Amino acid sequence: MSTETPLDPAFSADRACKNVPVNVFFPRSTDLVALDRARETCASCPVLRQCASWAGPLVENRLITEAVVAGVLTPALAGKRYAAARAAAVEELAAIAAGDVSVSDLGGAAWTAA
Ligand code: SF4
Repeated sequence: MSTETPLDPAFSADRACKNVPVNVFFPRSTDLVALDRARETCASCPVLRQCASWAGPLVENRLITEAVVAGVLTPALAGKRYAAARAAAVEELAAIAAGDVSVSDLGGAAWTAA
């Protein structure tokens, strides 16, 4: 098991979101069109797995919320089911990072549990 800290994908020249407006990755919870656009961008990203590896601990520690990262929607801090939604998002990011699933395989667990 590697102890290296994953590189922040913001420093990758290859990232698919490089020229995409940042608001695309902060869709409203009811805006499924925007969510799909963000997820499709991530699905084509050459650093998808690296991004998921980087984002997992940040989501777990509540440092990324209400955003799509590595194709996974991270929940808002508020809400009765936040803990379950956050755990689902972390689980999805781990699966993406491991290469076990693709973005299109995800059911948006965090989205529906929020
Ligand atoms: S996976 Fe998505 S959020 Fe991460 S670097 Fe690629 S396009 Fe950006």
